[in-house]
Amino acid sequence: MGIDELYPPDRLIAAQRATAAAGLDALLLTPGSDLRYLTGYDAHAGERLTCLVLPAVGEPTLIVPKLERPAAEAAPTTGVRIVDHVDGTDPYPLVVAALDGPVTAVGLSNRMWAEQVLALRAALPGAALRLAAEVLRELRIRKSPAEVAALAEAGAAIDQVHLRMGEWLRPGRTEAEVATDIAAAIRAAGHVTVDFVIVAAGPNGASPHHGTSDRPIGVGEPVVVDIGGTMASGYRSDCTRTYVAGGPAPADFLEYYAVLHDAQRAAVAAVRPGVTGAAADAAAREPIAAAGYGPAFLHRTGHGIGLDGHEEPYLVAGNDRPLEAGMAFSIEPGIYLAGRHGARIEDIVVCTTDGVQRLNTTPTELIAL
Ligand code: ZN
Ligand code: ZN
Repeated sequence: MGIDELYPPDRLIAAQRATAAAGLDALLLTPGSDLRYLTGYDAHAGERLTCLVLPAVGEPTLIVPKLERPAAEAAPTTGVRIVDHVDGTDPYPLVVAALDGPVTAVGLSNRMWAEQVLALRAALPGAALRLAAEVLRELRIRKSPAEVAALAEAGAAIDQVHLRMGEWLRPGRTEAEVATDIAAAIRAAGHVTVDFVIVAAGPNGASPHHGTSDRPIGVGEPVVVDIGGTMASGYRSDCTRTYVAGGPAPADFLEYYAVLHDAQRAAVAAVRPGVTGAAADAAAREPIAAAGYGPAFLHRTGHGIGLDGHEEPYLVAGNDRPLEAGMAFSIEPGIYLAGRHGARIEDIVVCTTDGVQRLNTTPTELIAL
């Protein structure tokens, strides 16, 4: 998979057209997924300004700190002029110069730092500040074949880590000890960063975003393991399996795990073009509610994934946008019983022209170690 396939230079042209169509004069993108999506540049986010100035019409300019110029030049920023600034100088006039004329509305990276937003507001008095997502959402929400391949590579890498869980997850070890081993394996499997490691045993499993703790894992306790990282491509993995170690799981747990397993499979099977995000959410939620666990499924069914770990589309009540081929997202229902235990099953899937492709392919049954 060539970098030109993953980050094609004509994306800048598509983004410029969309910027004009949205009634914006330019996009101003600081380090993050939008900048990387358009240029391939995995820029360092720091107090020194890095900003892609992408006018609706005209030449794009990447403003960078002088000490990061070599990194910017090494990135596949084809067709982008690079302008640098040195410490002790004000970089914001460079943004104004790169805009090459007065502007009435610009789109800023959604996750730009507030200090940069305020400096741009001061540098561009009278310009309306809007969100770049108005333009980039539609470009990023459908993945190209190269992006799907990158997500599949990430999915295969995190699957390898789950398949090794028996090496580390044992009663008597703490969640944190197990997580340290998992983190090393996430890197060994090909990720360049470890984004999160949740090891949630027993009652901790009832907290969906529990991280880890120094509590030892008990015999027969259900353990929710939700892990993910970022590959060199920039694309991310995210996969949850639930385990039980050293002995049989409690009977009440086994009862609802079977419900959860059916619900997760039903939601995956429901994915195809035209089905809304809300309907995919309902496909997971209805069997769980019918079994009496509705309130225990306390989050949405899924989130998009790509250069960000969470991005559009979201599978959630109220999202009436139909799914389309190329959209990639998680299917991750959970059941959480406070004070007792919890379970979640998560796969990343891609909506295809006629159905769905799972990018995580390990078994979703409860895994006894
Ligand atoms: Zn996850
Ligand atoms: Zn997730």
